[in-house]
Amino acid sequence: MKDIRKEAVFIAGKRNYVLCGDDLGITLLNEIEERIQRDKGTYQIYYLNKMNRSLLLELLEQMKMGTYLYLVADSKLLFDLKPALQKLGYSTCEAQYICHQMDHRMVFCSKCHQIFSVFSKVNCTNCPNCQLTLEVSEHYSKIKNAYLGYVASCEWKE
Ligand SMILES: [Zn+2]
Repeated sequence: MKDIRKEAVFIAGKRNYVLCGDDLGITLLNEIEERIQRDKGTYQIYYLNKMNRSLLLELLEQMKMGTYLYLVADSKLLFDLKPALQKLGYSTCEAQYICHQMDHRMVFCSKCHQIFSVFSKVNCTNCPNCQLTLEVSEHYSKIKNAYLGYVASCEWKE
């Protein structure tokens, strides 16, 4: 998915900030929070695992103009929330979407249904369970929370 960052970058001079993430995500925003405090800015923190999706969207919809959003989560949550948030106007000019698992992605083996993680740059891999060579597709399954791995037409290289 495009426009997903690896780390948060502080953008100064916004009217208001919203820091939003799962448990790990919020801790990764500590530095941003300190910067906002130093600048005497206003901000809210939303813990994704303590509120449901519709409440979060409702709160963010009511934010005043000029609110800047930081969202840090795993890829599943980002895939789920980003389109809805962009619809509310949190484009990449008004928000940073950060994935804390950027280096890895989950792959679903189409043969034995094993789910395992690979480095995100890897397009071709061997299933650790059935040893089949798999091509990692761009098809993301929300149900499996993984990218679908198909029988490869590529060569697997170590
Ligand atoms: Zn397999």
